[in-house]
Amino acid sequence: MENSKDKTVKDLAPLRDIKSSPELCMSCGTCSAGCPITGQDGFDPRKIVGMVIEGRDQELVESNLPWLCTMCAKCEHACPMGINITGIVRTIRGLVDRDKVPGMIHKGVELCLETGNNIGLPSEDFDFIIEDVGEEVAEEEGYEEFAAPIDKENANILHTLHNKLVNTQNEDLVHWWKIFHAADESFTIPSENWEGVNWGLFSGDDESMKTVVGRIVEHMEKLKVKNLMYPE
Ligand code: SF4
Ligand code: SF4
Repeated sequence: MENSKDKTVKDLAPLRDIKSSPELCMSCGTCSAGCPITGQDGFDPRKIVGMVIEGRDQELVESNLPWLCTMCAKCEHACPMGINITGIVRTIRGLVDRDKVPGMIHKGVELCLETGNNIGLPSEDFDFIIEDVGEEVAEEEGYEEFAAPIDKENANILHTLHNKLVNTQNEDLVHWWKIFHAADESFTIPSENWEGVNWGLFSGDDESMKTVVGRIVEHMEKLKVKNLMYPE
């Protein structure tokens, strides 16, 4: 990703589709009142907007404030001036050096680009788990015909997966597949690049985000699937 260190949120606003300028903020505090994180480690959306107006972008980049936001967007729905606060937060995240992105997020992005999923699960393990979960579903009365549909063409739904459903929470997959089967819903799972959680979106990494979205679009076109189901 291009190092945008010299850039500011204001410079990047057109690129990031931040339509309503932070300068329009009238400091009413409506955003802060509705924000579930206000007060947590000094976080406050009004303060973030104020710092951007004052040109204190680097201070934000070097703090943990942008990473506290859940991106729930309550603030911007409430803002009377229509200020795109999540766009601002995500832009700040994008200005952070990738080795300073907290936790597993950027590592997960790298693994996803390399292996097609955020945890780097090898394809043979994925195949084994999917088959195994499919067999578990088929063991239940009324589901004997079930088999996990991999790369099926013309299905109604492309079912991208949250890595944790494959890694540790297989029972949730069982529930999903039983519902689909009981509803006679046609769905399919991609055999590769199956990750549905786009951490590039969360980390402000536009290029990686686009790559991951592009893979899903490719699946839908190739398999001629009509609808997409995201895991979250
Ligand atoms: S998007 Fe972030 S700043 Fe806005 S309400 Fe949610 S947590 Fe608070
Ligand atoms: S709600 Fe909008 S106008 Fe009011 S303080 Fe927050 S960003 Fe500024």
